[in-house]
Amino acid sequence: MSTPSQGRPEPRPGILTIAPYVPGKSTAKGAKVHKLSSNESPLGASPAALAAYRDIANHLERYPDGSATALRRAIAARYGLAPDRIVCGAGSDELLQLLAHGYLGEGDEAIHTQHGFLVYPIAIASNGAKAIVAPEKNHTADVDAILKAVTPKTKLVFLANPNNPTGTYLPFSEVKRLHAGLPGHVLLVLDAAYAEFVQANDYEPGLALVSEFDNVVMTRTFSKIYGLAALRLGWAYCPAPVADVLNRIRGPFNVSSAAIAAGVAAINDQSFMDKALAHNGRWLPWLASEIGKLGIAVTPSVGNFLLLHFPKEKPVDRADAFLLDRGIVARRMEAYGLPAALRLTVGDEEANCAVVAALKEFMA
Ligand SMILES: *Cc1c(COP(=O)(O)O)cnc(C)c1O
Repeated sequence: MSTPSQGRPEPRPGILTIAPYVPGKSTAKGAKVHKLSSNESPLGASPAALAAYRDIANHLERYPDGSATALRRAIAARYGLAPDRIVCGAGSDELLQLLAHGYLGEGDEAIHTQHGFLVYPIAIASNGAKAIVAPEKNHTADVDAILKAVTPKTKLVFLANPNNPTGTYLPFSEVKRLHAGLPGHVLLVLDAAYAEFVQANDYEPGLALVSEFDNVVMTRTFSKIYGLAALRLGWAYCPAPVADVLNRIRGPFNVSSAAIAAGVAAINDQSFMDKALAHNGRWLPWLASEIGKLGIAVTPSVGNFLLLHFPKEKPVDRADAFLLDRGIVARRMEAYGLPAALRLTVGDEEANCAVVAALKEFMA
């Protein structure tokens, strides 16, 4: 319905340039569907987290604790952090959005890497700022390229470490070099959504930098290794002034009681975490090696997923259709600038074996 004489509400500049985020498909043919398109946990959530979640059902009339005190204390105890510098959010997506909202405006620039997580350009453009893309090398963030992209207008740098969808990471020495090269007024946001999976000795999610400097934030999520994606729960470790900004602009009850309760139980269930780590530690290298043998290039990953690059003679659209026909849902990567690639989450044993068998048949 147009009302030309009176005009119409217009969104702020930049909003209509945003390509809406498209989540992974969740359906396929066949009786048994293996959803490997969203980096979800094949083990589900900790039984203790499920019990805590169910308990909340008895008191849905109550507002949550708006400062998520129990959860911030549990996280602080687990990692040796200051609870008042932790801010919880409805998924780390909300925290990434809030950081952009707090620190970006029209005329500002924010940097992310070439195949960086797609929430960053959305968060940047939503706040009227311009996204500057720093090229990667071998599907890995390139510190020199990021530093070269800095201008007087730069206010924020988003770095996923490890990155999704590539699965690659920067060693802590490189993250420190990046931080050291940034002007003090540029906020470095280290998105460590997959930190728990990383086994490399030279990796650090960035807590030490946050403790020392006023311009570094680290975000984490309960969606991946904890298997609580449905509840929407993440947290940020911040310098005190940044925590203050986030606490001013976030919704007063942005995290639900169910998420708080399940999060506390999950973070205290070390044996479930060990199980999840052992599962990924067993299947990630197996998948990489089995798939690599088939003539599909596999980017080395430290997360719970693999990026597969299909050769021209075996095009990715056919591979995707072939897998879907067998009930296996992978993620197409055009939106990430990787048109010949598929991203595949580590699944349970049955899913992983089905993937390898299907790809073997497809590549034959
Ligand atoms: C999955 C993911 C997140 C986490 O999202 P939530 O909102 O916490 O579910 C954040 N960053 C990256 C890079 C991710 O892949």
